[in-house]
Amino acid sequence: MAKVIAIDGPSGAGKSSVSKLVGKALGFLHVDSGALYRIMTWQVLVKNVNPEDPEAVAAFAPTVTIECRPENGAIAYYVDGEAPGERIRLPEINAHASQVATVKAVRDKVTDLLRGMTQYGDLVVEGRDITTAVFPDSPARFYLTASAEARARRRQKEEVEKGIANQTAEAVKASLLARDAIDSTRKYAPLRKADGAIEIDSSDLTLDEVVALVLEKVHEAFG
Ligand code: C5P
Repeated sequence: MAKVIAIDGPSGAGKSSVSKLVGKALGFLHVDSGALYRIMTWQVLVKNVNPEDPEAVAAFAPTVTIECRPENGAIAYYVDGEAPGERIRLPEINAHASQVATVKAVRDKVTDLLRGMTQYGDLVVEGRDITTAVFPDSPARFYLTASAEARARRRQKEEVEKGIANQTAEAVKASLLARDAIDSTRKYAPLRKADGAIEIDSSDLTLDEVVALVLEKVHEAFG
């Protein structure tokens, strides 16, 4: 059976950077579950579905086909043969993704896709409900967190470096906190620290330190 490392936490806690390096170190495929919610949001907007109307989003969700396949150490996604690229990272997507992710039909669809990925091999999966709902039985489950200031700083730097946006740290922080609030209070699979998950606060740790900690605990978990 495929091994799964599950990493949850709020936006900007460093889940992506940590998951990618852990996956690389162990030869596990990196899975970005947030990208699937972002793709659903992108499609909702492209097809002129109202992202604030849960019934319309629920009816639309089954019509979206996302192809998932392993590529260069990660699971890559395609919609109608097209890679979404950085357009799913735009502030417009940030503004609606959490709302779209409250809809059960969307969550069920993404959860099915994620569970199906074990056919491709061992995985390191990052998100908000991986440790609690998608792979709650994984022996290697982590809750990665950091202060709101540290998270906003990292996200802003990333947006500028990638040429995605040029927002102030305050604007980035407000957007992160708004998403956190929706993610942790929604009805289905809210963001929370799972019982038994290992909590790591990355505010004062370097990326390498967090990765080393995770790898140590993963070795303990899988023996
Ligand atoms: O991780 P990322 O910030 O790209 O995720 C975008 C949004 O997708 C989050 O704000 C959250 O609302 C949603 N999400 C989720 N469950 C996951 C991963 C992401 O609800 N497992």
